[in-house]
Amino acid sequence: MNEDKRYCPECQVGIIQRKKGTYYTWIENEMVIVPDFPCWVCDVCGHRDWDQGAVFNLGMILSPAAGTPTFDRIANIPSGANSEKDKSIRKSKAHRSAL
Ligand SMILES: [Zn+2]
Repeated sequence: MNEDKRYCPECQVGIIQRKKGTYYTWIENEMVIVPDFPCWVCDVCGHRDWDQGAVFNLGMILSPAAGTPTFDRIANIPSGANSEKDKSIRKSKAHRSAL
């Protein structure tokens, strides 16, 4: 396991750390609230980015066609960080079709 330190994209000084928060999103006309959702929080300015893989997974679970408004905002996360997430996305897709 390598040390995964990421600098804050907002202030460039703080280090963003993995935490949990309550995530809100809209699926069509319904508001969806997800407690304990993984996110990254800057220890200096408090800037928060939702975990990209988790947001994507949630979108796939709730509705494959649903837009995720916060997705664009966090597109600057290095692509190498997502390889492990891709596997779980595929898993959740398979799980979904089995339902
Ligand atoms: Zn910051």
